[in-house]
Formats: sequence, C-alpha cells, structure tokens
Amino acid sequence: MTINKVNTHIVPIEFEYHAPGSLDEAVALLEKYGEDAKILAGGTDLIPHMKQRKTEPKHIVNIKKIPELACIEETPDGIKIGALAKLRAVELSPQIREKVPMLSEAAGSIGSVQIRNLGTIGGNICNASPSADMATALMALEATVHVYGKDGAKEYPIAEFFQGRSDVSLERGELLTGFTVPYPPEGAGSAFEKVGWTTFDIATVNVAAVLTLKGGKIDHCSIALGACSPAPIKVALAEEILKGKEPTDEVLEEAMEFVAACVEPRKRWRRAPPEYRRRSSQALAMDAVGRAVEQARRHQ
Ligand SMILES: Cc1cc2nc3c(=O)[nH]c(=O)nc-3n(C[C@H](O)[C@H](O)[C@H](O)COP(=O)(O)OP(=O)(O)OC[C@H]3O[C@@H](n4cnc5c(N)ncnc54)[C@H](O)[C@@H]3O)c2cc1C
Repeated sequence: MTINKVNTHIVPIEFEYHAPGSLDEAVALLEKYGEDAKILAGGTDLIPHMKQRKTEPKHIVNIKKIPELACIEETPDGIKIGALAKLRAVELSPQIREKVPMLSEAAGSIGSVQIRNLGTIGGNICNASPSADMATALMALEATVHVYGKDGAKEYPIAEFFQGRSDVSLERGELLTGFTVPYPPEGAGSAFEKVGWTTFDIATVNVAAVLTLKGGKIDHCSIALGACSPAPIKVALAEEILKGKEPTDEVLEEAMEFVAACVEPRKRWRRAPPEYRRRSSQALAMDAVGRAVEQARRHQ
C-alpha cells in the first residue's frame, strides 16, 4: 500500500516548540540548538517537509511573535520588506504595486490565495528552492538581504545569499530579517513570467526582467532566471547583448540564446527535462523582456 505522506494531519516527529518575542531571544535559541533547530514562519514548506520526514528538527522556533519582521515600508534606499511579510501582503501592498510592481506580480503568481496568506517572503528565500518565485524577482531587482545574529546585523546582495540548492548564507544562530528592494530607475518597465505544471504549482521555469529605454535603446537591463540551475541566476550575457541596442526582434532573439544556454544540464530534473527548460526559458524571457519594453515605452 502507498501511504500519502503529504496530505495528512500527522507530523510524525516530536519536537520542542519555542515562540520568542524578540530577535535576540530568537538568536539565543538558534545559537543554543544549532542544527537541531528550525525556524517556523508560515510553515508552507517546513510542515510538508516534516510530514515527509525530509527534515526532523528537535526544536521549532516560531518567529511570528517578532512584530518588526512583518514590515513593508518605504525608505530612502528602497522598499524595506520584513522576512515575515506574507506573500499576499507583498502582492497587495499599494507601495509595492506602485514602486516595484514586478515583485507584486511575482508574489501573486505563487500557489493559491490560501498559500499566499500563510507563506512569507523570507520563507520563500530561506527554503532555497531553485524555483522560488520571489528569489528570481528579487534577483532581477538586485535586492539587499538583511541577516541578524549574535554579532548583530549583516547585509548581502541577494546573489551572494544563495549558496546553491537548499542552501543560503546563514551561520549558526542567524536568521533572515528582511530585504531592501531598491527603487528601479525612473521610467523602468518590468515583468515576471512563469510556467508550471498547473497554475497552483511551483515553477518549471521563471524569469524576471527590469529595464529602461534611452532614446529608444535599452539602457538599464536586469534579467534573472529561476528553476534552471541550483539557485536563481542573473543572465549577464543576455543583459550585455541588450544594453545600448534597440529592442528589435533580431536583437531580442540573439539575447535569448544566452538565456537558454544558462540551463544547467542535470541527469534528473523531476518536473521537466533540460530541453524543455531551455525552450521555455527562451520563450518566457522573450515575453518578459517584451512586456518590460512595452511598459518602459509607455513611461517615456
Ligand atoms: C500547495 C503549495 C503551492 C506552492 N506554490 C509555490 C509557488 O508557486 N511558488 C513558490 O515559490 N513557492 C510555492 N510554494 C512554496 C511555499 O509556499 C513558499 O516557498 C513560501 O514562501 C514559504 O514561506 P513560509 O513562510 O511558509 O516558510 P516556512 O515553511 O515557514 O519556512 C521555509 C524554510 O525557511 C526557513 N525560514 C523561514 N523563515 C526564515 C527566516 N526569517 N530566517 C531563516 N530561515 C527561515 C525555515 O526554517 C524553513 O527551512 C508552495 C507550497 C505549497 C504547499
């Protein structure tokens, strides 16, 4: 008999539950229990993993009682988003919709409303899935990641935060506190594209693009690709091809060849083979860049 290990109410492991009320309290618990502890945010990744015994933490540190972690606020450097901000809040936030609409678009593409009402932006990044939609969007937006630990606060460009599949730059005792998403340049257009098995499923490929036009030519250009390598990546070669050129079909097609070339061949892709990902990444990047160009033209 096959046992369904996911759709069950049973979490088949014992653990001690902690609910710290401050960052320092959370850090002390994480420092004390190290590898035995797991942070709980929305639980939409962690709980299914515990049900499947992919992870068996002895201590659960629920960080939801640390109120400052759920902020979304405008600062001179960009929009500050706390790690505990719900995906639904990111999708619907008026500030995010106005200043960085692509982030709201990416958040709105995740799972169902129920998942977005539970899942957090920090959990999406720290789960470090290659297909995490917020990761690709934040890469294209060149966000800064904020971390807190016993030595105080640290920050990294998001590209340095990903260490590969299921791994991020967090030392023992550290937690992610949030992000600063810089305001895109004046007149920027942006778009997020994704394909999955179903609308509610995680991405087989996702692409995010942010660009500006100057005199009809592409000026600033940032393209990120997800679910095609162990962690989301920036497609620097495609960005370089596009910069300083008019976005004609020929130029876009030439740049998209470099997107497809970024798909890392792996023996076992569970959701789709490399060739599918190559073709989809090319097509989705074409759509994302095309939509971003149209938006930038309207802003001129
Ligand atoms: C039905 C379903 C559909 C889904 N669809 C999508 C989808 O379309 N796209 C997508 O990208 N994802 C999808 N997901 C995955 C998931 O919902 C998201 O990744 C979500 O953002 C995870 O956030 P969370 O708050 O629930 O994380 P949790 O499950 O609470 O945590 C995830 C991991 O991150 C760690 N963690 C959490 N917060 C922090 C922190 N502040 N500092 C350090 N570590 C931390 C936890 O210890 C855990 O290891 C789906 C999940 C389900 C169940």
